[in-house]
Amino acid sequence: APERSTTHVVLLACPGAGHVLPVAELARRIVAHNDGFTATLVTHTNFSSGDHYASTFASLPPSVSTAQLPEMSIDDLPADARAETRIITIVKRALPHLRDLLLRLLDSPAGVAAFVPDLFCPWALEVSGELGIPGYIFCPSNLMGLSSLLYTPELDRTTTCEFRDLPDLVRLPGCVPLHGADLVDTIQDRGDPAYPLMVELGEHYLLAQGFLVNTFDAMEHETILAFQELSDKGVYAPAYAVGPFVRSCSNESNKHSSLQWLDAQPDGSVLYVCFGSGGTLSTAQTAELAAGLEASGQRFLWVTQFPSDKDRCASFFGGGRDGDSPVNYLPEGFVERTRGTGLAVPLWAPQVEVLNHPAVAGFVSHCGWNSTLEAVAAGVPTMAWPLYAEQRMNAVMLSERVGLALRPRAREEDGVVPRDEVARVARELMVGEKGAAARKKARELREAAQKGLAPGGKSREALEAIAGKWKKAVGNGN
Ligand code: UDP
Repeated sequence: APERSTTHVVLLACPGAGHVLPVAELARRIVAHNDGFTATLVTHTNFSSGDHYASTFASLPPSVSTAQLPEMSIDDLPADARAETRIITIVKRALPHLRDLLLRLLDSPAGVAAFVPDLFCPWALEVSGELGIPGYIFCPSNLMGLSSLLYTPELDRTTTCEFRDLPDLVRLPGCVPLHGADLVDTIQDRGDPAYPLMVELGEHYLLAQGFLVNTFDAMEHETILAFQELSDKGVYAPAYAVGPFVRSCSNESNKHSSLQWLDAQPDGSVLYVCFGSGGTLSTAQTAELAAGLEASGQRFLWVTQFPSDKDRCASFFGGGRDGDSPVNYLPEGFVERTRGTGLAVPLWAPQVEVLNHPAVAGFVSHCGWNSTLEAVAAGVPTMAWPLYAEQRMNAVMLSERVGLALRPRAREEDGVVPRDEVARVARELMVGEKGAAARKKARELREAAQKGLAPGGKSREALEAIAGKWKKAVGNGN
């Protein structure tokens, strides 16, 4: 191949806002921090309706192109199929289209120096491998999460019980020890169709030549060291801690109602409550959380979703119901009684802007990794309220090791966090000593993250190291 003046990297995001946004951010950073790079961000059509990430796409620099794989039908999946089953099914069905796209790009003047699918797309590495393109995995979550996914095939082979019944703690390299029940919820039922997909996923990670992980040294120091040791021994491909990638505040002029409301609140007084793009509470839990917030005496801004007694990530597939609002499902009289101190908004708030608002001092979070990193970037401590995916693992790490989060205890019998506990931890987070310590930690992490991403910082150097590799491969005509 002729020597090329630019290095073109193709990134692939699986369906879902929580996945597309960090991959877009990775694309942006690859071209921004490394001379002579261009990127193509490939997304799926499924679950991309709504405008949650239209503005992110619009703000990408001209050196990042976008391409969309066609909509894949998953109508044949059972109605109760897990989110991961749907995502992975879409990803697998779209592979022939991905292959066509990669072939076209290979034939174009830009060529393809490297291919970087995200966490849920490792099957795509078979396609890139067949076409001779070096393949990497981008993990928008942390290194502990990646380690657990890499470990799943072995855990599957060496045990027979459900993981929640494992008698011993699971010790992932350099990670806080975990109960089996805290592992990713997708692997908690061996009989679920998602289970074998997750085992396959872990196996396909071995096709990667490296992992780009949305984490940083101050957050996962021991884990990064332990992984490095394993990759030095050739057990795993190397991991590059290139994060944290967090969107910056947008300067949109028409302010969301939640920001207008925050403008009228005192500095450092508001607890922000949001369970990500998919997090859903049961009817009973919604009532207890509402009563707890009310009893805490703290000001709050709550992004509400329609309750579901079946599924903790029901809202993932789009929360809109014509003419109805989740605020209508809050306990009777709650909105009236808390008027003045609290605001419940339906479905969505501009989270990065909210977290960086001077009025916000605490965050009740589902521990989704983007949300966690956004809290860190804003220096805001959290109340860990994990719901699905790898969030329980994150909650353990953030509360037991990192010190960013306080963790309310759920009732043994029904898993509901009762109102007194909500009120107690909310007060502790906002005005207590433990909250102050977590706030200090959040600010330390914010500073460390900024340092790591600045020129000469560890995360910046990790991204430069990998970009250098890609560039060299192009220069050699590979
Ligand atoms: N988000 C937002 N407003 C909301 C809910 C979510 O802006 O009301 C954004 C949030 O800032 C984050 C992403 O959606 O960037 C959610 O990602 P995360 O990994 O925290 O959780 P997921 O939704 O994937 O479970």
